Amino acid sequence: MLENCSLRGTKTCAMLHMPDCKDCPAANGTDPEKIAATVARFEEATAGADIAALLTKDECELCLSEKKQKEGYVIYDLGHVAEKQPEREDWKKLFHARGPEFDFLLPLQLPVCPTCRKRLWWSRYVVTVVTLAVLAIVLPFISFLSPSEKLRAVSRLLPLGLAVAALLIGLIGGKILRKCLLRRWEKESLLDVRKHPAADMLLKNGWRPVIQDSGKMPSVMYTKKALSRGLGTAPMAE
Ligand SMILES: [Zn+2]
Repeated sequence: MLENCSLRGTKTCAMLHMPDCKDCPAANGTDPEKIAATVARFEEATAGADIAALLTKDECELCLSEKKQKEGYVIYDLGHVAEKQPEREDWKKLFHARGPEFDFLLPLQLPVCPTCRKRLWWSRYVVTVVTLAVLAIVLPFISFLSPSEKLRAVSRLLPLGLAVAALLIGLIGGKILRKCLLRRWEKESLLDVRKHPAADMLLKNGWRPVIQDSGKMPSVMYTKKALSRGLGTAPMAE
C-alpha cells in the first residue's frame, strides 16, 4: 500500500478500481492531481449512463418483460473519441486508451440472464451455423459423386455449381431463420445492446464501438464474472 497517497479514500481512488496500490498510476510517480483530472474527465464523459449502478444489479438488463436473474455480463466495448491526443504513452496504457482515436475505453457491462445470452449468440451466429451445416451435408455428397462418369458427363462444372448452390441455400436459409427467430425473440429480449439506455446515452455522447458493428448486430462478448480492474469497472454507489 502506498504511504501518504493523497488519493487514498477518494472517489478518484474508488473509480480507478485498481486491485492493488502498486498497479495504480500514482505508484509510478504520476501526479495525483493529473490522475484526478483524468478520472473526472472520464466521469464527465460517462455522466448519466449509470454504469456503476449496472454492476450491482441482480436482474437481467436485456429482459424486456419479466426480468430474470443475471448469470453474467454482456460486454460492449466502447471508446471515447479523443478531442486531442493523450500527452504521454504511459497514460494511454494506464487509462485503457489506445491509438490516436480514443482517449478512454469503457467495457460497458450489462447483466444478462442465460436465455438472453443464448438468444444474443444465436442472433449473431445463426447464418454461419446454418451455412456450415448445409455445406457439411452437401460437400461429402458432391465429392462422392464427382469422380463418377455420370456427373462429369453432364458437366465438369457441375460439382462446383452444386457447391455454390449449397452455399447460397445455407446463407439464404440462415437469414430467413434469423429473421423468424428475431421476430419472436425481440418481444422478450433486447438483442441490440445499442438500444439499452446506457449504451444509447453513451453513443450519443461521443462514445463509439471499439469493434465496428458489422451487419445488424453489434459485436459483444460475454463474461461470467464482471471485469474488476480499471475505469468503468467499479460497482459503487454514488
Ligand atoms: Zn434476460
